[in-house]
Amino acid sequence: MKTKNILSVTKPESPHMVGDGFRVFNLIPGDYSMKEMDPFIMLDYNSKYNFAPSLIPRGVGAHPHKGFETVTIAYKGRVEHHDSSGNGGVIAEGDVQWMSAASGILHKEFHEKEWSKKGGEFQMVQLWVNLPANDKKTAPKYQSLRHQDFFKVSLPNDAGVVEVIAGEFEGHKGIASTFTPIHLYNLKLKKGGKLALNFPSEYSTALLMIEGSAKINYDQVVPEDNFVRFKKDGESVFVEALSDALILVMSGKPIGEPIASYGPFVMNTQQEIREAIDDFNMGRFGYLE
Ligand code: MN
Repeated sequence: MKTKNILSVTKPESPHMVGDGFRVFNLIPGDYSMKEMDPFIMLDYNSKYNFAPSLIPRGVGAHPHKGFETVTIAYKGRVEHHDSSGNGGVIAEGDVQWMSAASGILHKEFHEKEWSKKGGEFQMVQLWVNLPANDKKTAPKYQSLRHQDFFKVSLPNDAGVVEVIAGEFEGHKGIASTFTPIHLYNLKLKKGGKLALNFPSEYSTALLMIEGSAKINYDQVVPEDNFVRFKKDGESVFVEALSDALILVMSGKPIGEPIASYGPFVMNTQQEIREAIDDFNMGRFGYLE
């Protein structure tokens, strides 16, 4: 098998706030087109950041999403969400929320109340996964994925563990159901631990160094919080941890459809974007205080 060469290594450079609760670095689409990492159309990374205690939880108030999925991974801190269909819940440390906004939803995302009172170190990823045209019409749904339920694959030579969130690793399946083929793992390597990851060459593939540092493809040193994208020129990615490391690994089959996007709406055509904005303005996404 051929190595997937590195396309880019991105340092987290200029953060922006989403509401007042998420201090994020935008890593997808960054300065390139949303099609480049298809089906991954957006990735915001809140690297470790200390929030002071607050009786009023910080976050982002009611806002819509339509046409894709939001995948929220809480590494430190807790996030609470509520939506226009009356659903709500808490994403605790290590947990993942896979929300299919699909035909449209209104929701809000805040630091969980009790966590907010204490404050502390907060670290989170929000990844947006696009949907094929037909699935954009389906009803919204949630998957609350608990850390304790992830399949954890121990690696040979005590190198570490692969936690399979979605897709599969060496035949072990993740608990998330996805509309298109996607592999999503938390790769936990001990210092010196090595692993070769294999994905089809045409898949969009990237890694985010959540904790620690690693050498990628033998000679590229990737520090904490850096984001690595791979070319579609081979199947294998080699990882060697330079310290104990936690790496978010994503690889997905491109959907290959046209993308029209406007803020929280991602559709196939500008006409559909105009309809989504109209629907939102007319209150057809429901109601949320
Ligand atoms: Mn949202």
